[in-house]
Amino acid sequence: MKDQYGRTIDYLRVSVTDRCNLRCTYCMPENGIELYEHSRILSVEEIDSIIRAGARLGIKKVRITGGEPLVRKGILDIVRNAAQTPGIESLCMTTNGILLPEYADRLRELGVERLNISLDTLDPERYASLTRVGSLDDVMKGLRAAEEAGFTGTKINTVLLGGINDSEIGSLASLTKDRDLSVRFIELMPMGECVGWPEESFIENSAVLRALPELEPVSIDGVSRLYRLPGAAGTVGLISPMSSHFCPSCNRIRLTSDGRLKPCLHSDTEIPLKGLEGQALEDTMRRAIFEKPARHHLNETHQSETHRNMNAIGG
Ligand code: SAM
Ligand code: SF4
Repeated sequence: MKDQYGRTIDYLRVSVTDRCNLRCTYCMPENGIELYEHSRILSVEEIDSIIRAGARLGIKKVRITGGEPLVRKGILDIVRNAAQTPGIESLCMTTNGILLPEYADRLRELGVERLNISLDTLDPERYASLTRVGSLDDVMKGLRAAEEAGFTGTKINTVLLGGINDSEIGSLASLTKDRDLSVRFIELMPMGECVGWPEESFIENSAVLRALPELEPVSIDGVSRLYRLPGAAGTVGLISPMSSHFCPSCNRIRLTSDGRLKPCLHSDTEIPLKGLEGQALEDTMRRAIFEKPARHHLNETHQSETHRNMNAIGG
């Protein structure tokens, strides 16, 4: 359906848990988070009802995210249900990749079309310190498991962190040389844990073009500007929420794991859906979509209005 500004809203991102098996410094506090009680979290059936209602309102694409979606109990049921929902044409997942050796085959069989795997560094020590508890070797095994399960067009999400991983732009982009991967550099957004980080941490994606002047423009893919290293199999993408906001063409809404619909990532407006069923659920979602705000003001204020950390929204 269209919102009040005429934008077609057809993309729902579903955070199935706010829990995570990593503690990325810019996303989650060191000691973890105050966990929601189980009764506050949407059940597998409630997630199914909301996706079905969304599909009736014109949602065609669903992304399962988190926290870390693969630590959610019942994740395979959630995926199966979403894949079988009439009207849902594309089902994707964003994951840190750690549990893919266990899950990749099943996700593929159940109908996940594509994976986004988050990877900010190829340096094992830096990975361990950035994620506080993670091992680079595990993600690389996850990436291999995705390839072996038959996933193609996998996207690597790399958040650009000034003074931390900007020295690795070349080596991360090189992952695309002989593999059908898209490495997408994403500008760090000042929300949650990284709000007070020094200004130098927030660098624009133009840094990628300066580091790799040989990049050749290819196309635009949704919010990502795609480039290619000469002769490379895959692509390098730039996602620039800070330096060029894409609100005028935004087609997405988000569902938090505690059942609140977020029409805009950076707004604090949330519409509670938990407990609603049938027509009441559909009508509430229709109203929320229609009233999606025109834009956020993150670029000017350098401050997200949302009170949530990214792990509680899903990115
Ligand atoms: N745990 C999964 C993962 O890491 O892929 C899914 C959830 S995570 C919140 C989704 C994405 O949001 C990740 O790629 C992460 O790097 C990104 N992210 C988290 N905080 C961010 C921030 N402040 N600015 C930009 N991207 C951020
Ligand atoms: Fe977990 Fe993903 Fe946040 Fe890292 S970015 S702490 S993997 S939710």
